[in-house]
Amino acid sequence: MRAVLLKKVDDEFSVTIDDVSEDDLPEGDTLVSVEYSTINYKDGLAITNTSPIVRSWPMVPGVDFAGTVLMTESESLKTGDRVVLNGWDVGEKHWGGLAERARVQSDWLTAIPEEFSTYQAAAIGTAGYTAMLCVLALEDHGLTPERGPILVTGAAGGVGSVAVAVLSKLGFEVIASSGRVESEGEYLTTLGASELIHRDELAESGGRPLAKARWAGAIDVAGSHTLANVLAATDAKGCVAACGLAQGMDLETTVAPLILRGVTLVGIDSVHETPERRELAWNRLATDLDVNLLDALTTEVGLEEVPRVATDIVAGNIRGRVVVDVSS
Ligand code: NDP
Repeated sequence: MRAVLLKKVDDEFSVTIDDVSEDDLPEGDTLVSVEYSTINYKDGLAITNTSPIVRSWPMVPGVDFAGTVLMTESESLKTGDRVVLNGWDVGEKHWGGLAERARVQSDWLTAIPEEFSTYQAAAIGTAGYTAMLCVLALEDHGLTPERGPILVTGAAGGVGSVAVAVLSKLGFEVIASSGRVESEGEYLTTLGASELIHRDELAESGGRPLAKARWAGAIDVAGSHTLANVLAATDAKGCVAACGLAQGMDLETTVAPLILRGVTLVGIDSVHETPERRELAWNRLATDLDVNLLDALTTEVGLEEVPRVATDIVAGNIRGRVVVDVSS
């Protein structure tokens, strides 16, 4: 089988597209024929060796994949089932999705809703599933369209694009924050954003602990000063779902929004989410994500293009989602 292979020998890092024996796959009770994988931000960090994402070498990267069960020892699955995998440290500690086959634990797999093709499930991927976990967190907190607009940061990226599309379909007014307002403004409006702001507005340190309230809630992929400024401008009893660190992992802020406005900061960890919550998120995507918009935010590449796309995603130059056809 063909696979992207990351190696580190004597501190020398390499990325190759290799022929790998199926016998070398790690242990697991289920063998999946991977049809599509994708490039998420974390994959970009792993494949460019920018952050210590990979914790076992050699590694097949790819934190997600969609495909069909070939063989399983599990009673809850059968050959031919269409499945998607997101997280569970796959592509970090356990060989991941950027290969024609994957051997994994059956309880890491989620059934693909019948509304989606395998390709569309991959297009959603970990970024889209995480966007839905963020939306669920805002809903759990009682946010409805009547409460006011929702801000989405990193709006032109993978998590951001799906978040904008889902929130607007649910009837929310969406404010999209992007560093690419000029080049991607039309794209974001097509996804459903009703207002665009430049991310520079939120990027600086030293902002006021409480700013004028501008949104009822937010989905933040940036972290760092952006998250601090997002919290400061969140309306009373609002909620911010934080899932990313595209600006940075640091968070220098005050408790003012929490104790003077009752704002809630919810952390989202898609990697270790429960199977029940995953199923809920995927089923909600089936009803709340317009598949025409999904197609519009997706591009496709082959395995050979993975190193280039990894560099582009770390540089913040990828729009929406990139699906990898692992057989081409
Ligand atoms: P993408 O690269 O597709 O999107 C990230 C976007 O963030 C970019 O497109 C850009 O959007 C924006 N951005 C880039 N640099 C900066 C910056 N310096 N300051 C503010 N915004 C910036 O990545 P994904 O959508 O796949 O992932 C987004 C984030 O969410 C990542 O940090 C990722 O690690 C995290 N993540 C976390 C998960 C979890 O379980 N917690 C799961 C999935 C992702 P624009 O040009 O529009 O500004």
